[in-house]
Amino acid sequence: MIKLPGLIDPHVHFREPGASHKEDWDTGTSAALAGGFTMVLAMPNTKPPIFDAETLDIALNTAKGKARCDYGQYVGAGPDNADKVAALADKAAALKMYLDMTFGQLRLDDMTLWIPHFEKYPKEYPIVAHSESRSMAAAILFAAIHDRPVHIAHISSKEEVLLIKAAKEKGIKVTCEVCPHHLFLTSPSPIFEENGGGPGRGRMEVRPRLATQKDVDALWENLDVIDCFATDHAPHTLEEKDSDNPPPGFPGLETALPLLLTAVDAGPFGAAQGRRLTLDDLIQKMNINPKKIFHLPDQPETWIEVDETAAYEIKASEQFTRCGWTPFEGWKVKGRVRKVILRGKTAFEDGKILVEPGYGVNIRK
Ligand SMILES: [Zn+2]
Repeated sequence: MIKLPGLIDPHVHFREPGASHKEDWDTGTSAALAGGFTMVLAMPNTKPPIFDAETLDIALNTAKGKARCDYGQYVGAGPDNADKVAALADKAAALKMYLDMTFGQLRLDDMTLWIPHFEKYPKEYPIVAHSESRSMAAAILFAAIHDRPVHIAHISSKEEVLLIKAAKEKGIKVTCEVCPHHLFLTSPSPIFEENGGGPGRGRMEVRPRLATQKDVDALWENLDVIDCFATDHAPHTLEEKDSDNPPPGFPGLETALPLLLTAVDAGPFGAAQGRRLTLDDLIQKMNINPKKIFHLPDQPETWIEVDETAAYEIKASEQFTRCGWTPFEGWKVKGRVRKVILRGKTAFEDGKILVEPGYGVNIRK
């Protein structure tokens, strides 16, 4: 049995308010605990989006009543709310800016709309950017011009990781995260192919899209550039994923740690290619770095216990997420979360959630 600090996921979507048939604060935080996460930061692209004092109150009140692990809530950057969200900074996890197409309505196409947010949002918190490829380069330029921290969400490509590496070498305040699905899946993927463009096509929809093997290799080769592992837990029901208009997103909270522990054990592509990830890296990227980047509080008497020898197959039927599927169905992994202790209390043990809704606390006071 190995003991790890409580994991922190800086990027989850809990779909409440607005789409709790996909997930809500109760099922989402249950999935978090089952996956070894004791703290999650929730994204603002709900319905309504969280982008002013009223909507932030809606989200925080819901979380207060239902969350089983600790949490923070992002506010979203809109075309004309820079003053409003800056005033809420001490209550929010951080500011999220959508600079590329994704799920929901928050999107800032015109770079002049970015300026007030970069000028006004307090510099002690990062601006988290969904920005791919060249818009990521623009976001990094904004970080340099405004001399403030920017955290790039879910990087997925070789060009992105190499540009971030170069920007860091120049001293620009940029950090980044990568999601397990961008480390373990490619497009085209075997699952995608097996389904012949049928149900598999919708199930593989995610933003950023799954990349090529060359991109995946570049991420693994540059793990030292990557500050955090984030799940981008983005649940949609199987019915929605298999529909004619499949929404992008994967659940990820319950598969991240076993996938990454398997890579620690044998390397991402089997022992032949060597190990590229250590347990220390994992602790760094899933606890120490997110805590530092987002100025998150300590969680006293909090840890997780993992049976690193437990080998098993991932099964959606055993998960707590409401969405009912996983892109990693049937994957053979090694490493199972046995116990989660959160602020002195056993919150999860051997497949059972042991704390009530409302046990989780807001990490911003
Ligand atoms: Zn996301």
